[in-house]
Amino acid sequence: MSDTPRLTFDLDEPGIRKGHLVVPKGTDSEALSLPVFCLNKGQGPRLLVTGGCHGNELEGPIVARRLVDWLPEAQTCGRVIILPVLNPPAVQAWSRNTPVDGLNLNRAFPGRGDGSVTERIADAVSRLLLPMADTIFDLHSFGPLWDFPPASTTHPIADADLMAKTLRMAQAFKLPVTLLWEYHDTPGMFDTWAHSQGKVFVCAELGSGTVGSEALAIYEAGVRNAFIALGLVEGEAECPTFRQQKSSQTLETLSSDELKSPARGIFEPRCSVLDEVKRGDLIGILHPMDSLSADSIDIRAPTTSIVCAVKSGLHVDANEGVALLARPLNR
Ligand SMILES: [Zn+2]
Repeated sequence: MSDTPRLTFDLDEPGIRKGHLVVPKGTDSEALSLPVFCLNKGQGPRLLVTGGCHGNELEGPIVARRLVDWLPEAQTCGRVIILPVLNPPAVQAWSRNTPVDGLNLNRAFPGRGDGSVTERIADAVSRLLLPMADTIFDLHSFGPLWDFPPASTTHPIADADLMAKTLRMAQAFKLPVTLLWEYHDTPGMFDTWAHSQGKVFVCAELGSGTVGSEALAIYEAGVRNAFIALGLVEGEAECPTFRQQKSSQTLETLSSDELKSPARGIFEPRCSVLDEVKRGDLIGILHPMDSLSADSIDIRAPTTSIVCAVKSGLHVDANEGVALLARPLNR
């Protein structure tokens, strides 16, 4: 008989509770104990905050951990469950995917109780935490390989009512960008699974590059703004300052807006995020390195757009994404 996941404490108890979500052992690993914080102040919104889904995106776990410091005093109602690290083996290894089974936790939902460790984590979260919340904030970042502005993101949702609610919630972060992101159909994403359960799920992409204190302050302000919008804490929501500006814009990007590398080589970025580009403007240059006779190749914007993400200077394969373009959402 395989064990079932369990919580070491009762989420319905009033007040502050700390304990663990226990993911049972399997053939590939011992049981995992994921620290969980729960602040229950009675009637009101039911929120789940998660970080550390991808192990090389560490802003989320830090911001989630900081919530534990200020929320007990600030929260006025409702229940907030915080799980700072969804995937401890990946975070400990600074690896996007789980080292034990090589799986991407954000492609493993709703998981399997008798599966590998990543699937067992997804199963434990799906069974025990997701049903306890109506709104989920999953704190990611674009990782170390991209330049990306602080953003709250959602994917297109077929249910128009849930789409509108989710977009409003994402905009409430008041981060520099709210992004409606059309993605190639990829099964097993946490947000897709939560949306299928009728829940409002916002994925924060808390920047990129290395973890820095200025960026963390922006992310924390964004999360606080969303808490204010939900009515969980009191206060005035305000756009955080990013590159000397306090502004927020809602953008849309389609899967066709991803620019791919035309060849294998080193990508040299020639634009910055939030640059407004016209058709033909230079986005970057691809330098093939396999031969000295191959010319460098300009990568240009196909249409008027806003640069939403650009890959750092890196060696890339042919057809690998190097930039994501976007335009103001018009709906
Ligand atoms: Zn991520």
